[in-house]
Amino acid sequence: MVPTPARVKRDPRWPKEWQVDWETCEAHAVPMVNPQDNPVESATATAMREAYEEIEESSPSLVKHSVNFTHEKEPDSNGLEPCVACGNCLSGCPHNAKKSNDKNYIALAIQASTFGWIILHSEVQYIVKVANEDYSENGDINGKQCGRRWHIYFDNLEYIAANFVILSAGVLGTTQILFQSERRGLKVSERLGFGFSSNGNNVAYLDGSSVPINGQGLKKAEFSKIPLQDRAGPTISSSYTSSVGFTIQSAIIPTVYPHLLLKGIATYGWPNNYWLLHDVIDKLKYTIGVNSSKGMILNSMGYDSGNGRITLDKSTEKINFTTPDDPLLPRKVKALQRITKRLGGNLFMSRYRSMSVHL
Ligand SMILES: Cc1cc2nc3c(=O)[nH]c(=O)nc-3n(C[C@H](O)[C@H](O)[C@H](O)COP(=O)(O)OP(=O)(O)OC[C@H]3O[C@@H](n4cnc5c(N)ncnc54)[C@H](O)[C@@H]3O)c2cc1C
Repeated sequence: MVPTPARVKRDPRWPKEWQVDWETCEAHAVPMVNPQDNPVESATATAMREAYEEIEESSPSLVKHSVNFTHEKEPDSNGLEPCVACGNCLSGCPHNAKKSNDKNYIALAIQASTFGWIILHSEVQYIVKVANEDYSENGDINGKQCGRRWHIYFDNLEYIAANFVILSAGVLGTTQILFQSERRGLKVSERLGFGFSSNGNNVAYLDGSSVPINGQGLKKAEFSKIPLQDRAGPTISSSYTSSVGFTIQSAIIPTVYPHLLLKGIATYGWPNNYWLLHDVIDKLKYTIGVNSSKGMILNSMGYDSGNGRITLDKSTEKINFTTPDDPLLPRKVKALQRITKRLGGNLFMSRYRSMSVHL
């Protein structure tokens, strides 16, 4: 959990009641995620502490993690295991030391569930409103028990029926289901597909630094060789907020991510004209068994113009995302380049801002 910057709270696009309830909502979230301080400063965090002045008008933000940093398993039955600082928790912890959707929230939903069942490994394609609209709250038509109001289709034949449907398939999934449903007759808002923000999110990769940053996740076999305090740590290792309106976090790249992809053809290299050579040298080193250089992820977040678009390509039935305008992008790139200059190495930045993680 990162405290919400004052500038974000002042944004008039947030619903008014959210601005009033902000602290109360944050306070509600605290017992649910039980955020904790990381007691150890990792090498990436140390490097960023030395370089953060390169981010204009910046100061450290407090970062708390929904990770169990104690040496004990949490006492309740779904309790978290202690963090082993492997750095592989970008999208959930492989050692059950971090709160995550699948392990924690879905488990809680199952426990609290009063509805019938949970269907796994199925993808909703579209929903259709059943023709007769004269249903009462409990699904009766004119007092007679009948079918339900909605059909939720997994393909063109298989569906389940329900009286109430809550769509929560994320920004892309929900929009896709609504577009597909519209094609089958569902009335949707004419604003569908408009007004998306990426939270000003840009992901960059710093590689080959001259200081000992090692923002690479660890394999299990490496645990015995590296003491806990020297390991990569949880994914987000530090966070700095510029009063200009953005935050830059240092992060660890999990072992399962092919990090060469982060330097691949979909990125801009900086300094120019050197990144390809660097990549070739790195691959050669890897082939002959010498350790290749290692880096860290730099994740910048803030706000953008919120004018991103999602459209449905009817021929492929896939959705396309057009990123919102990001007036702060040049200043973020400048900050990332200055950090790179300070720490040494090369900066790789995605050409496609739709690689953002915060839609
Ligand atoms: C790498 C990463 C790191 C992040 N870190 C943070 C962080 O530190 N703090 C923070 O606040 N936010 C973070 N976020 C953002 C946060 O995860 C999202 O904002 C949040 O998960 C959105 O919740 P949601 O319920 O709307 O959608 P999701 O969590 O995306 O859930 C949607 C679910 O619906 C399922 N689904 C999609 N389509 C269908 C379909 N057709 N049929 C059936 N199921 C479908 C998906 O499989 C998914 O399980 C991060 C995101 C990423 C990718």
